[in-house]
Amino acid sequence: MSHKIVEEFRAGLCAGELLLQECDSCRRLNMYPRYACPYCQSEQLGWKRSNGRGSLHSFTVQRLGAPAGFEAELPFALGVVKLEEGPQLLARLWPSDDGGGWDGYACDAVVEFAPPSAEEIERRPIAWFRLA
Ligand SMILES: [Zn+2]
Repeated sequence: MSHKIVEEFRAGLCAGELLLQECDSCRRLNMYPRYACPYCQSEQLGWKRSNGRGSLHSFTVQRLGAPAGFEAELPFALGVVKLEEGPQLLARLWPSDDGGGWDGYACDAVVEFAPPSAEEIERRPIAWFRLA
């Protein structure tokens, strides 16, 4: 499958921005990028910069048994973030600065978008969040 549909999303991540797809017809937001609006089927889709704030719907800390290619990254955490604007997305979660790993995270915690280096985004194009 072509990567074209996510190119702008990934370019946004590299630039430190979280972009949401916005329908030019009904103005609704959706995530992840699609070829047609899931609400009205319009193919006229643009982009809107998210304010990067949301809450943690659910999360998991992977300590063992990483999927192939992720072994060197253990431990790591993945969460589902519900953005203030409505859409939700799967994201990586930063461990806390105080060395406590992800102990401070809980469901419904307020989180904010905090991208890593552009180099890391190139390697793994995914949004990262931390506790707000
Ligand atoms: Zn629409």
